[in-house]
Amino acid sequence: MTRLSRRACGVQPSATLALSARAKELAAQGLPIISLVAGEPDFDTPDHAKAAAVRAIGEGFTKYTDAAGMPELRKAVVDKLARENGVAYTPSEIVISCGAKHALFNLLLALVDEGDEVLLPSPYWVSYPDMIGLAGGTTVPVPCRRPDFHLDLAALEKAITPKTRVLLLNTPNNPTGAVYTAAELAAALSLCQRHGIFAVADEIYEKLVFPGLDGSSRTFVSLATIGGKAFRDTLAVVNGCSKAYAMTGWRIGYAAGPADLMKAVGDIQSQSTSNPASISQKAALTALTEPDGAWEKRMHAAFEERRRIFRDGLLRIPGIECAEPEGAFYVFPKVSAWFGKTVAGEKIRNSADWTRLCLEKAHVAFVPGGPFGDDNHVRFSYATSKANLDETLKRLQKLFA
Ligand code: PMP
Ligand code: GLU
Repeated sequence: MTRLSRRACGVQPSATLALSARAKELAAQGLPIISLVAGEPDFDTPDHAKAAAVRAIGEGFTKYTDAAGMPELRKAVVDKLARENGVAYTPSEIVISCGAKHALFNLLLALVDEGDEVLLPSPYWVSYPDMIGLAGGTTVPVPCRRPDFHLDLAALEKAITPKTRVLLLNTPNNPTGAVYTAAELAAALSLCQRHGIFAVADEIYEKLVFPGLDGSSRTFVSLATIGGKAFRDTLAVVNGCSKAYAMTGWRIGYAAGPADLMKAVGDIQSQSTSNPASISQKAALTALTEPDGAWEKRMHAAFEERRRIFRDGLLRIPGIECAEPEGAFYVFPKVSAWFGKTVAGEKIRNSADWTRLCLEKAHVAFVPGGPFGDDNHVRFSYATSKANLDETLKRLQKLFA
């Protein structure tokens, strides 16, 4: 047996990616599986972005670019941040990476030393704790408020120790959908300032923020916008093309932060992956510089409608509670009322049992809450057709009738 490094032994495979693969495998065996696992838009990449990539290949744009990304693309990100978030960065403060995941990983490598603590509001996206661990840090999960999953600032402050180095925020949130308010972000930044903590915000679901189900308005606010000039040196934001332009497979994400940090991020990248694929960068450049408003509206409207239909349907299943998901494309209902009960001959003890039961008896795949830090819940991605969502609800309503 290979003697693996301690680092490798500490890593869990991504639960979301592993379950996606399992659902595909079962479907390939002929089972009528509906998968609400994957966190990726079911829309096609906009045609003009695809065409830009084809053109790049034809023109031989198939060589290394700057390790931190093409200057034009970094400039396009600067323009995007100015236009949409009202913040002034320069290209030297931007690094283009192989997806937002890679941007986050690089940032954590550049910020976290062995033994440093990273405050992580919980529930959290499954990949953060493993990324923090790979960087040598320790994850300190801090439960969010219930039932709306917004930040509990008093709990965050209480969790701070002399080893706390980073506060890692994700808004709109995967898996809860929580979209943090301007006041909440300002309070988080002031807490970071008082304790000398660096703030990182993963804003990959920026474009997917929905009005309140009661008709109230809701908008996305970037941590960088709230931080303005005063916090320029103590925060970084991460974003990318995966969710905004349905470009998950192209692997383009980016980070913006103070120049010295981003130089370190670029250096790390230059010694690991080098630049993200040149062809993908050309597609991202077109997506960012020639926004297709009609396409964006279509995707947003579809997700908004599915959110309402799917949550309403879940609430009709006995024992399920579900706060309003404010953004992203997930619902994170509480199913723990079923724990201790027996359904279709199977005893349910936890979210993994509940999830397995639904897969085996109803052929519906989704993710248990445990890997997100809350075992009383499960996560459904509604990035799939309305027909699939309707059929899912029918099957689950029957199973738990
Ligand atoms: N952050 C969050 C919260 C996510 O859900 C995802 C899922 N893909 C990512 C980052 C990674 O995005 P990318 O595909 O750009 O690496
Ligand atoms: N972020 C998505 C999810 O949570 C995609 C898979 C992954 O990278 O984790 O499902």
